[in-house]
Amino acid sequence: MLKQSPFILYSDGKGNIFEDISLYATGRSGWDALPVPEEDWIELPEGGSLYELPGRRGIGIDVLTGEMRLCTKGWAVAAFIPPAHTGLYLAAYETEKGAPTLPLFCYTAAAWQDSKFFVPAVRIEQDIRQDCEGYDWDTINKGVSTILEAYPQNRLIRHLAENCCLTYHCPAARNYFMGRWECPVPSSPACNANCLGCISFQPQEESITSPQDRLNFKPLPEEIVEFTVPHLQTAPFPIVSFGQGCEGEPLLMWETIRESILEMRKHTDRGSININTNGSKPNAVRALCEAGLDSIRVSTNSARKSVYEAYYRPNNYTFEDIVESLKVMRSYGGWTSINYFVFPGMTDSVEEYEALRELIRETGLNMIQWRNFNIDPDWYLGKIGVVETGEFLGIKQLMELIHEEFPEVKFGYFNPPMERIKGRFEVDFAH
Ligand code: SF4
Repeated sequence: MLKQSPFILYSDGKGNIFEDISLYATGRSGWDALPVPEEDWIELPEGGSLYELPGRRGIGIDVLTGEMRLCTKGWAVAAFIPPAHTGLYLAAYETEKGAPTLPLFCYTAAAWQDSKFFVPAVRIEQDIRQDCEGYDWDTINKGVSTILEAYPQNRLIRHLAENCCLTYHCPAARNYFMGRWECPVPSSPACNANCLGCISFQPQEESITSPQDRLNFKPLPEEIVEFTVPHLQTAPFPIVSFGQGCEGEPLLMWETIRESILEMRKHTDRGSININTNGSKPNAVRALCEAGLDSIRVSTNSARKSVYEAYYRPNNYTFEDIVESLKVMRSYGGWTSINYFVFPGMTDSVEEYEALRELIRETGLNMIQWRNFNIDPDWYLGKIGVVETGEFLGIKQLMELIHEEFPEVKFGYFNPPMERIKGRFEVDFAH
């Protein structure tokens, strides 16, 4: 734990970052800048990166007067913290008129002390599957050429190799080509939601772009089964996951997915078959449970209908449908997670806390995956019409309160393999 608050960072606008020792760093919650408790700062984990924020001035606390003031030496700086870690405070800054909207990344507070970068965050997941030091490109490239050779006609394998792995460097795709853990299976070129921060499609009129292009074909069950069965049979802690960042909504392809699951389970009962989804079609979820789906992860920015629908802008479905999808999965004894987009000031507001308690009680939820929300904070709050975020608990305290009341609800960042779902949740992944 730090003995004193770390110092604010600023950039010269040319990618060079400096500390300003006249100012202690602060954090942001909702629209407010505030001091960060010293015990909340951790060293920036391996795989994290720093961003300069054009048109924004960092907010700090004067080391002599204790007053809050702007750092006018340069642009504000934020951190993109690596997977398995949850940010407790956003970067605090004042945005100047005409500043560009920030791209779809998370903007956690960042600071400096004793020649190290610090962030207010917690490691929420012990699973090492996306730790950057675990990736070996020689093994990945060998895997890509071997698998492309093995399935020359398979359009989905070509997409996973050329786009996901070699272009987007998707952590899940890289793990697949290393023959381990979670294998991604995108399947849907379309979606029935219009999320503000969609990472596979952004409307022309928006100034931000989506980091991935959406899949532009409908894979056949044979194309899916051809490579997923060997993965389930051979990979350590195997998971096959429908619903990836490079597609629309997989439940719109439920017939193809059902046929694929039925065929997979004819060959092997090993591993977990999961779907990452917006949860919009409970009847499709029921059909997939009947076919053998093992787990579901429903993405949401909130447990409150109004906040959810303001962000997802759903077509022909409602917040109640996603709740129903979680209940359907539990009714078949399947594992349910929410992919919970954490936004300090919103996620830990008192209203959200009450709504989350209600959602857990109503659905019998198994797991909360506390994910950092990859979005420009000002743009998001502006778009969903939030001018005042009200009283907040603090993300850490929210986690403690939920854990106290619902000790059976697991916390993490990734979909658990069957070994964790059925066995001891605390699995040693290194071996
Ligand atoms: S549900 Fe997924 S694919 Fe659909 S709009 Fe939202 S982020 Fe995009």
